Amino acid sequence: MKPLQEIEVFLFDMDGTLNMGEQPIDGAMETLRILNQKGKKVYFVTNNSSKARSDYQKKIKRLGYEATLDQIVTSGMATASYLNKHFSGKKIYVLGTQTLKNELKTYGINVWEEEDADVMVLAFDTELTYEKLWKATNVVSAGKPYIATHPDFVCPSDRGNMPDAGAYIALVEKTTGRLPDVIVGKPYAPMAEFTAEFCKTDYDKMAFVGDRLYTDIKFAVNNGMTGILVMTGETTKEMLEQSDVKPDYVLDSVNCLR
Ligand SMILES: [Mg+2]
Repeated sequence: MKPLQEIEVFLFDMDGTLNMGEQPIDGAMETLRILNQKGKKVYFVTNNSSKARSDYQKKIKRLGYEATLDQIVTSGMATASYLNKHFSGKKIYVLGTQTLKNELKTYGINVWEEEDADVMVLAFDTELTYEKLWKATNVVSAGKPYIATHPDFVCPSDRGNMPDAGAYIALVEKTTGRLPDVIVGKPYAPMAEFTAEFCKTDYDKMAFVGDRLYTDIKFAVNNGMTGILVMTGETTKEMLEQSDVKPDYVLDSVNCLR
């Protein structure tokens, strides 16, 4: 187990770790500033591919911390990087929000609206229509490469859990018999590779701080980072005891990092 003093880069999940919806966890924003004062770099890493980096920047500001765009990593950005590496210039059908499509275009992705696309990207589409869904399943049924931005089943919200990309993956599987060829987001390697490149740091100097075992902590442990679980979100003591994903550190809240 790596002493926390040797960690240079702290990657943070948001919901359940730093905030609950629009409410910051008591003291969490001050903790981020204290880490900065100690010379630690702080990044916000989210699987949510329905929003743009600038949306997160505004949200973090509302929570009480001044983040730059360079401190924010989304699974949408990591997906753009993956597509540019492996499917450069191909026609990409995106089951996703207009915000995500616009962001992908800024990375040079050829966003394609019809079902004769070369690749299907499944994201957290909060603007889902039946027509979009049907086109997406037709691309997958045609045997084209199928990429998902992240695997989360639900996205917590003030109005209850929202069906997230992982739930759409199940729906596409029932329709086409296929699972994604690649999932980019936490806990998988493409997101880790992108994050390490983005932060210009090696895995052994990075820690991931989050509240979810099967995405946040698995992400850290599977990719050689230090995994820090906080008990302010989804995970209960019982879940932790029964889990085969073992965090390096378990903290009552992010404030224990001070
Ligand atoms: Mg969380």
